Amino acid sequence: MGRVEWDIVVPVKLPISLKNVDPGKLHPSLLRKIPQGGQLHYLAADAWNAMVDAAKADGIELKPTSAGDTYRSYDSQKIGFLSRYQLEPITNQSTKTFEGKTWYLKKGMAAMATPGKSNHNLGIAVDIHSAGDNKRIKWLIANVRKFGWSWEVVPSEPWHIRYTEGDQVPQAVKDWLVLNPKPASMFGTPAEQKAAAEAKAAAEVASATVAQSVIDTKPIIKKDHRGRAVKEAQELLSKHGFPCRPDGDFGPKTQQIVKQFQKSKFLPETGEIDRATWAALLS
Ligand SMILES: [Zn+2]
Repeated sequence: MGRVEWDIVVPVKLPISLKNVDPGKLHPSLLRKIPQGGQLHYLAADAWNAMVDAAKADGIELKPTSAGDTYRSYDSQKIGFLSRYQLEPITNQSTKTFEGKTWYLKKGMAAMATPGKSNHNLGIAVDIHSAGDNKRIKWLIANVRKFGWSWEVVPSEPWHIRYTEGDQVPQAVKDWLVLNPKPASMFGTPAEQKAAAEAKAAAEVASATVAQSVIDTKPIIKKDHRGRAVKEAQELLSKHGFPCRPDGDFGPKTQQIVKQFQKSKFLPETGEIDRATWAALLS
């Protein structure tokens, strides 16, 4: 990586939403997809996206080494850890304590945090692809702080940066957010978005079905009718913002209000409560 030297290690301020969470077991609502693959805590995602755009404007591409090098679940961190560390002692190799035991780093493997101990488990760390590349590292050194990022271990892990500014969104990120209102596609994981869309569709079908079966039980009512259905219609008119005294008597006043309601719903202004008008009243 040449002669580039830097020393930007800033302590992490945790967002409030990450206090008292189980690392690697974050609620999906805290995570956002990033365009290059993977997920980050939503504050880190904004700071990352803003920085990626700024780098791009300077001709530098920033992307994670892989989607797994953004947010890591506890289980994926554990799989990675177990592939790099062993219980059988190896002399002169670094060790980690995990589940009460000493683990030895396998020869030729890069060190890795124990499961639950990494900032990747909080969704605030990213490993940058080819971070040590001369142009890229120079750009990063000059710019990471503006977007609220810093390294954790320098200079041996130039790829690993984490978002340090917690809930205090850096100005450069705020500026970026003004120009880039978040598209809906950026909210949640694909599975979460699909589940939400399905739940919404199911709720709509359910409410339409209920409404239709209810509508079928309603009589068509008009001027001079009296009774419970009239009273219910009057109450529903009021609920929709067309105040109507619920006296159960379909007089000229009620008829006039029904016409106003029908007009507001682009229905024929018949002054009679037919199926379409009941449907509108019950929706
Ligand atoms: Zn990392």
